Amino acid sequence: MSSHEDRSGKPNRRQFFKKAAAIGLGATLGGSSLWRPHQASAQITIPNEPMPRRPFGRSGIMVSTLSLGGMFDILNNRLMLAKALDWGVNYWDTAEGYGGGRSEEGIGRWFARNPDTRKQVFLVTKLSTRRGGNFETRLEESLKRLHTDYVDLFFVHGIRSINEMESSLKSWAQTMKKAGKIRLFGFSTHSNMEECLEGAAKLPWIDGIMFTYNYRLMHEPRMKEAVEACYRAGIGLTAMKTQGGGPVKSDSESEIEMAGRFMQKGFTDNQARLMAVWQDKRIASICSQMPNLTIMATNAVAALDQTHLSQSDRAFLAQYSKETCGDYCAGCERLCSEVLAKRVPINDVMRCLMYFHSYQDFGLARSTFETLPTQTKELLTQLDFSEAENSCPRNLPIGKLMREAATLFV
Ligand code: SF4
Repeated sequence: MSSHEDRSGKPNRRQFFKKAAAIGLGATLGGSSLWRPHQASAQITIPNEPMPRRPFGRSGIMVSTLSLGGMFDILNNRLMLAKALDWGVNYWDTAEGYGGGRSEEGIGRWFARNPDTRKQVFLVTKLSTRRGGNFETRLEESLKRLHTDYVDLFFVHGIRSINEMESSLKSWAQTMKKAGKIRLFGFSTHSNMEECLEGAAKLPWIDGIMFTYNYRLMHEPRMKEAVEACYRAGIGLTAMKTQGGGPVKSDSESEIEMAGRFMQKGFTDNQARLMAVWQDKRIASICSQMPNLTIMATNAVAALDQTHLSQSDRAFLAQYSKETCGDYCAGCERLCSEVLAKRVPINDVMRCLMYFHSYQDFGLARSTFETLPTQTKELLTQLDFSEAENSCPRNLPIGKLMREAATLFV
């Protein structure tokens, strides 16, 4: 028995990570939500074990529990796609809107050069109804960019209310399925998620949902019930924004303590946040933005690590979540935007700030901010947000944050 193994012959968890960390990958760090400066010298390798897979809802299609989010410059980083397949990350997520089509184009170039890999990949793309234009034509353009004739899952991008899933979309999805252009249909959402999930559970034509879900939200009673309803309805569930980072920068004592606590146990706090979500077996996959190999390797190691967080680890995360509640925007935008007659999509602006403060990705923050209408941007410094602040259950300083976004990203 090697020193890396327990009595069952399996690597024990501390040695597992040490072994993984001891062999250098040599990748460089970029802006990310997953590593902090003191971790920058770590080197990682991936254990030679199969990536766990789970069925995607009633479809039964087995997808990797870690999926590759496509909001990075794929055109110039196609090595990431090769490594994703090497490491068993077979679920790839993109959208028409990512990089103005460059994300889809990057994946398409990969498939053009490696056509035999298309069938290995569970490919997802999304279109937003807000952009206008004919959906079928736009899907055709996406398929052309992706160099494929079908996607495994099609999402209506970023809905804010289940009412957006109109019956015309149901007919459209049926037609596209019959034509073999999409296999599964659903939506993504990071606003009013609970309401969207509750409604979807009653719509048998929804096959899958990608939604904001993390250690901060997963224990909220309404969220728990909404997830259960969808799971029982056979809807495949993909979690995103699993780091639970917020628009307010937090350097609290508890954050530092958390990093130290998990490092002592052999993993990072960022890996712990992923593991907390994976422990919910109703979640088929976590879609993670992994803009470089180091982050993808770190996440893959966490996905492969079968060790569960202990009860005290989970209690610690819950306590941390409580203490930093006022740093995090929970996407319950109906509460704050409605008092402003929806003139400002507060949650979208918060997301830009989150990309900046939590992901430390100014480019992504600014490009997301640029998609807001000019009039909305002007309102950020003009409106009185005090009524919205009074409606926010987390007491976020909305007015201050809106002004900060206007200053940072204009
Ligand atoms: S600002 Fe407050 S009320 Fe508005 S979405 Fe965020 S947490 Fe909810």
